[in-house]
Amino acid sequence: MCPTNFFCAGWRQRLQYSYRVPLAPQPVFRGVRRQCIRSVPLTLDTKIEQLTRVGKATAARVGKLGIHTIADLLRHYPTRYDDFGQLLPIAKLAPGIMATVRGRIELIENRRSPRRRLMLTEALITDTSGSIQAVWFNQPYLTRVFQPGDEVYVAGLVSYEFRQLQFVNPSMEPCQEFTLHTARLVPIYPATERITQRQIRFLVHQALAGTAFLEDPLPTSVRQKYHYPTLPWAIRQIHFPESRETLTRARERLKFDELFALQLAVQLARRKLTAASAHAIPFQPEISKRFVDALGFQLTDDQRQAAWKILQDIGKDTPMNRLLEGEVGSGKTVVVAISALNTAISGYQTVVMAPTEILAEQHFKTFSRIFSGWPVSVALLTRSRRAVQSRSAEVTGPKIRSVTKRALLALVQHGEVDLVVGTHALLQEGVRFKDLALAVVDEQHRFGVHQRQRLKSVKDDVCPHFLSLTATPIPRTLALMLYGDLAISAIRQLPRERKPIKTQIVMPSGRQRLYQFTREQVSAGRQAFVVCPLIDPSDRLGVRAATDEGEKLQRDIFPSLKVGVLHGRLTADKKSAVMAAFTSGAVHVLVSTTVVEVGVDIPNASTIVIEGAERFGLAQLHQLRGRVGRSVHQSYCFLCTDADFGEAYERLTAFMSAKDGFEISELDLRFRGPGQILGSVQSGFSQLKLASFSDVALAQQARTEATELLRQDPELARFPALAAAVLQPEKPEAHLE
Ligand code: ADP
Ligand code: MG
Repeated sequence: MCPTNFFCAGWRQRLQYSYRVPLAPQPVFRGVRRQCIRSVPLTLDTKIEQLTRVGKATAARVGKLGIHTIADLLRHYPTRYDDFGQLLPIAKLAPGIMATVRGRIELIENRRSPRRRLMLTEALITDTSGSIQAVWFNQPYLTRVFQPGDEVYVAGLVSYEFRQLQFVNPSMEPCQEFTLHTARLVPIYPATERITQRQIRFLVHQALAGTAFLEDPLPTSVRQKYHYPTLPWAIRQIHFPESRETLTRARERLKFDELFALQLAVQLARRKLTAASAHAIPFQPEISKRFVDALGFQLTDDQRQAAWKILQDIGKDTPMNRLLEGEVGSGKTVVVAISALNTAISGYQTVVMAPTEILAEQHFKTFSRIFSGWPVSVALLTRSRRAVQSRSAEVTGPKIRSVTKRALLALVQHGEVDLVVGTHALLQEGVRFKDLALAVVDEQHRFGVHQRQRLKSVKDDVCPHFLSLTATPIPRTLALMLYGDLAISAIRQLPRERKPIKTQIVMPSGRQRLYQFTREQVSAGRQAFVVCPLIDPSDRLGVRAATDEGEKLQRDIFPSLKVGVLHGRLTADKKSAVMAAFTSGAVHVLVSTTVVEVGVDIPNASTIVIEGAERFGLAQLHQLRGRVGRSVHQSYCFLCTDADFGEAYERLTAFMSAKDGFEISELDLRFRGPGQILGSVQSGFSQLKLASFSDVALAQQARTEATELLRQDPELARFPALAAAVLQPEKPEAHLE
C-alpha cells in the first residue's frame, strides 16, 4: 500500500528525468506492516531488548556482535552498501543489473518445489511499463506480510532464467518514504548466524532516534575548521546514506574522530612516558667486548651502531622507546643479547616477548646457547612450557631444566632469572619481576601501552626501557602516527659472508628438476623447507594442506630422506619435537604451513620451496624467503606456481629481482595499495573501525589538531567527552608510545 497514490503518479513522471530515488531526510519508518511501533522514549543506554521485535533470543544473538545498547547499535557501522538506488521501470530491466523497481503485486503465492524439498514463493510485480516475476526460496512468511494489490519496492540482481527476466530472492518492502532495504544505498552489516541483514537494519533504524542524545566529542572549533558535519548527521548518513556524497562526508568525519582519538592517546601516553623514570643501566665495556668476541662472527657495522644506540639509551634514567628495524636474517637477536647482558650485569631483568611459541622456544634456545658460560640465567615461559637455564661459569653448552609454573614465577620474582623469554602468556600469567629494566618485543606492532603496563616489577615506580623489533619496514609517517616520536634504528646490511638468495619461478614442468635439486642439496648436507598455502578455507590451520603434501613427498618423491611436517594443530610438544629434529638435522625436508613465516632460524637450511606462491603477499614471500640464506651456504628460493601470465606472474617476477624488505614494501605498495600492506600492522588497532593508516592526509590533520589541543588543554579538562573517549582503558590496544 502506498502512502499517497498521488505521490506514485508523480513519481512516474519524475522517472523520465531521473532514475535516482530522492530519499526523504525524515525517517518515517513503518517497518513491515501491521506491527506495533512502540513509542518508549529512547536514550543511548536503552537496552536493545526495549526495541520493537527484539526478544531475549534476538538480543542474545545481537549481543554476540558486542551490541547491547542503542549506543552500540549506532556504532555498528556497515561494511559495505548494495547500490539499489537505481529505480527503473520494469521494461528497462536487463540481466545482470542491480536495480529497484516500484510496482504492484499482482499475485503472490507459496508452493512446494516439485523436485527439491523447498518452499517457493512466487510473485508477479507490475508497473506501467511491464511485469516481472520474483521468486524466493524458503521464505513462506512473505505471503503473510504482502498481499496482491500492495505497492512495493523490489530490489535485487536481475537474472535471466527459463527465457525470462526474474528477481531471485530480492528484497521487498512496502512503498514508503523512507526505505531500509530497497531503493537506496542499502547498508550491509557485519552479522552473525541467525541474524539477518533485514533485522539489523530494522534495529539500527530504530536506534537512529538515539542520535539526538549523542554528545559530540570533537571540539566545535576543529569541526568547523574542516567543515565536518555534526556527529548525529554523520551517524545517520553512514547507516542510511542519502547519496554517495553524503556517505563520503560522513565517513571522513567519523574517520577523523578515530584518528584524532588515537593521536591524543599516543601523545598523552608519550607524555606520561617521558615523565616516568627508568633504571639507568651502565655500559660495561670490557665484558661486552669479550662477549662479542666470543660470538664466533664479526658484528656488522649496522649491528654495532644499533647496539651502541641502545646501550646509550638504556644508560639513561628515562625510559628508552626504540624501534629496531632490520632485514630478515640481519641479526637483531645478538643486538638484544648485548643489551640483555649489560642489563643482567647491573642486576636488572630483561623480558623478550615473541608472537608465537615456536619463536619463543627458538629465542630461548639461542639465548641459552649464547649465554652459557656467562652470568646470565635464561627462562622460557609459554602456555605449554617452562624451562630455565641457570647462570653458569663454565662454557659447557646449555643446561636446561623444566620447572613448574609456580617455581618459575618465584624465580623471576626473586631475581634468580635475568632474562625471561615468552609469548603473550607472560602477560596472562601476571608475572612479577624483581626488577625489570628492559622489555623487548619481537614482531608485534600491536603491543600496547596497557600491555606494557602489565609488565610489572615488584617495585612499581619504574618503567622498563622498551625495544620493539621488526622486519617489516614502516613508512616514516606511519611510524610517527603509531609511536609518536619514537627513535628508530635500522640494520640494513646483512652479515658479510651472506650470499644473495637465488630466487626462481618454477612451473609445473620444472618440478622434477626441482626435486632432483633438493635431493642434491640434502646430500651436500643442507636442508629444505616446503611451504604450503592454505587453499581450502575450512582447513584454517593448514592441517590437511601440510599433512597431504608431507605424505606425498615422503612416499613418492623423497622416499630415502626424512620428511617432517609442521602445522598449527600440533601440540606445542609435537611442534618443538619437529623443530628439534629439523634443527639437529634428523629431518631433511620440513613441510609446513606459514607457521615458519616469522623468525625461524635454521642456518643449515638452504632451500625453500613455496607452493602456490601466487597466493602469498610479497611481504609474506619475503618473510618466507628469509628462512634461508642465514649462513655461508648459497641459498635458493623456488616459487611454485602455474600462473604463467597476468598480474600474479608479474608480481612474482618483480619479487625475484627485489633486493630487500624496503624494496619489497614499495613493490607491495604498487601491486596492492597501501591498505594491504598496512593491514597486518593495522589489525592490532581495534579502535580504528573506519580509518586506516593509508588515510595519511587525514591522519596528519588529526596529529596537528591533537598537538594543538593538548597544548591549550593538557588534561583535556574542557573536553570531558573527549577525555572519556580517549582514556577508555581497554581501547588503545596499540603500541602507542
Ligand atoms: P633476525 O634479524 O631475522 O632476527 P637473527 O637474529 O635470527 O636474525 O640472525 C640470523 C642468523 O644470523 C643467526 O643464525 C645469527 O647467529 C646470525 N648472525 C647474526 N649476526 C651475524 C653476523 N654479524 N655475522 C654472521 N652471522 C650473524
Ligand atoms: Mg628474529
